[in-house]
Amino acid sequence: MMVAPVPINEQDRLAEVAEWCVLHHEPSTELKALVDLARRYFGVPTCVVSIVGECQQWFAARAGLDAQTMPRDISFCAHTILQAQPMEVLDATADIRFARNPLVTGEPGVRYYCGAPLMVGQRIAIGSFCIIDTTTRPPLDDAQKAMLVAFAETAMQIISGLRRNVFTDQDTGLFNRLKLEYDVSAALGRWQPLTLLAVDIMPPEALNDIIRGLGYNFAHDLTLQAMARIAAQLDGGLCLYKISPTRFAVLLEDVGNVQPLCQRIVAALQAPAQCHQVPVLLDAGIGIAPIAPPADERNSLEWLRRAVAAADSARRNVGRYAWYVPEVDAAQRRALLLLASLGHALLSEGELSLHLQPRIELPSGQCRSAEALLRWHHPQLGNVSPAEFIPLAEKTALMASLSLWVMRAVVGILDSTQGMDFSISLNVTARDLESPTFMDALLSTLQGAAISPRRVQLEFTESVLIEQPEALQLQLQRAQQAGIDIAIDDFGTGYCNWVYLARIPASIVKLDRSLVHHALPGCREALLVQSVIDLASNLKYRVLAEGVETAHQLAQVSAWGCAEAQGFHIARPMPVADFVQWFCNTRQIDQVAG
Ligand code: C2E
Ligand code: CA
Ligand code: CA
Repeated sequence: MMVAPVPINEQDRLAEVAEWCVLHHEPSTELKALVDLARRYFGVPTCVVSIVGECQQWFAARAGLDAQTMPRDISFCAHTILQAQPMEVLDATADIRFARNPLVTGEPGVRYYCGAPLMVGQRIAIGSFCIIDTTTRPPLDDAQKAMLVAFAETAMQIISGLRRNVFTDQDTGLFNRLKLEYDVSAALGRWQPLTLLAVDIMPPEALNDIIRGLGYNFAHDLTLQAMARIAAQLDGGLCLYKISPTRFAVLLEDVGNVQPLCQRIVAALQAPAQCHQVPVLLDAGIGIAPIAPPADERNSLEWLRRAVAAADSARRNVGRYAWYVPEVDAAQRRALLLLASLGHALLSEGELSLHLQPRIELPSGQCRSAEALLRWHHPQLGNVSPAEFIPLAEKTALMASLSLWVMRAVVGILDSTQGMDFSISLNVTARDLESPTFMDALLSTLQGAAISPRRVQLEFTESVLIEQPEALQLQLQRAQQAGIDIAIDDFGTGYCNWVYLARIPASIVKLDRSLVHHALPGCREALLVQSVIDLASNLKYRVLAEGVETAHQLAQVSAWGCAEAQGFHIARPMPVADFVQWFCNTRQIDQVAG
C-alpha cells in the first residue's frame, strides 16, 4: 500500500490550506486560463493546480484531466510539497517512489511529472502547479523551471485574490462572516476560548427604512461612519468583522476587558451622527457570547446565533450590551419555533380549533352571542395560548391566513347551527382591515353559505384604530352596512380618545377585565369605571363587561348599566359542541323560568 509522505510542519500546513482554499468548490476562470496557457507553453497533455489536503488532493484548476480529486496517497504533488523547489520526475517507472503507483501502472500511465510548490511564505506549500505527460521527457532547463515557478506564483496570486473576495465584505473592506467563522474554528482548534461581540448598529428594519427613504448611498455612508466609530474603540490587534448589513463583530481572547470595551463602543455609537447633513441617531445593541472549545467547534453557527440573539435583547437594556442568557434565548427560540410551525398548523387537521365563550345580556342573563377564541394544540409544545402566538403571528404575513382560517371556521359553525339564535364575534387585527381582502372574503363566504351577516360581529382593540384610520374606517363601514356589528375590545386599557372613537362605526365597547377586577365598590377606580360606562352608554354604545369572575362582579357591572357580560363566572370558553349544548340547556332553563 502506498502512503504519502507528511511534511514536518503538517499541522501549520493544513491550517494554511484551510485558510487559503476556503473557496475550493468555486472554479476560477483565471486559474483555468493559466493552466491552459501552461499546457500549451510546455507542450504537455495535462496541467493542474493541485491543493494537497489531509487525505485528498483536489484540483483548483485542471486541463487534460477529468478527475476533480485524488487520494493523497497516490498523489505526486504530495511529494512536491516537501520542498520549496520544483520536483521533476523524468520517468516514473524508473522512480522507486512512483513505479508501483496506479497512475503509472494503470490509467493514465503517467511517465513525466514536474511540479512547482504553491508556497505560502518560505516554508509552507499548500499544493503544486504541475505539468504531466504520459511519455518520458528530457529535464526542463533552468529557464523552463523558472517559468514553471512563475506559473505557480501567479496561481498563488489568483488564489489570494479569490480568498480576499471570499473573506471580504465588499461594502466596508472588512473581513466578513466567513472569515470570522474561519478564525473562530482556527482558534478553537488551538483550544483557545473566545468571546464574541456582535455589535448591531440598528435593527434591520431601520436600515430598510433608511434605504427606502434616504437612499442606498446614505445607508452606506452611515454604516461607514458607524464602522469608524467602532474601530476607533478597538485596541491594537483586535479585528473588526462585518457580518451582516447592520452588524459588526469583534473576537476577543481576553474576557477581562469586555465590559469597558462594550461601554466605549456603546458611547461612541450613541453620539448623534451627521450623515449627508442629516442628524441620525443609531439604535445600537451589543451581544456578548462566550465560545468554548471543544463544544462549539462543531456547530459554527450556534455561537454566532447566541451573540446575535443577545445583541437583539441588549437593545432593550439601559446599558445596551448584554451577555448571552440562555433563558432569554429560550423564549426567542420558542417564538421562532411557534412561528415556524404555524404555517403547518394552518394546513393540518385538528391542530387549530375554535372555542366559544358565551356572552350574556344584562339584566336578563340570556345568551345571544359568543366570542370565538382560537386554540392551538402544538404537536410538541402542547396547548399554546393565543395570547402568546397571536402577537407573534401579527408581526408576520401568517396573521392574514390565520384570520381567514378563523373566519371560515366561524362561518362553518354558523352554518351548522342555522336556526339557532346566536351570533359569533371574532377577533380581527388592524392588518386584516387595512385592505379589503379580509372583508371581501368574509362577506362572500357568508353569502356563499347563506348566513345573515347579523350573526357575525367583529372585535378589535382600540390601539389598532389609531394606526391606519382611513383604510380601517372604510372596511368597518362596509361591515356595518352589511349588518355586521363592530366591538371595540379591551376598552380602557389603551389610549381612549373619545372624539376619535365617535367616528368609528362601532356599536359595542368591551370593557377590559382589569377595569372590572379593580373596581371595588366605593373606590376611586369604581367611580372612574362607572363614568366610563355612563359616557359610553350616553354615546349609544352597548357596554360589555369582560372577565366577570364572581357573582359579585356580575351584580356590580349589571348595576352599573352594562348591557352584556362575559367571563369565567358565566362560562369558560369551550369547544363548539359543548357550547351548543350549553346554549340549548340555558335556553330551556330560561323558557322554564320565563
Ligand atoms: P380577548 O379578545 O380579550 O379574549 C378574552 C380572553 O380572556 C380570552 O383569552 C378568554 O379566555 C379570557 N377570559 C374570558 N373570561 C375570563 C375571565 O373571567 N377571567 C380571565 N382571567 N380571563 C377570561 P384567550 O382565549 O387566551 O385569548 C387571549 C387573546 O388572544 C384574546 O384576548 C385575543 O386578543 C387573542 N385571540 C384569541 N383568539 C383570537 C383570534 O381568533 N384572532 C385574533 N386576532 N386574536 C385572538
Ligand atoms: Ca376579544
Ligand atoms: Ca378583550
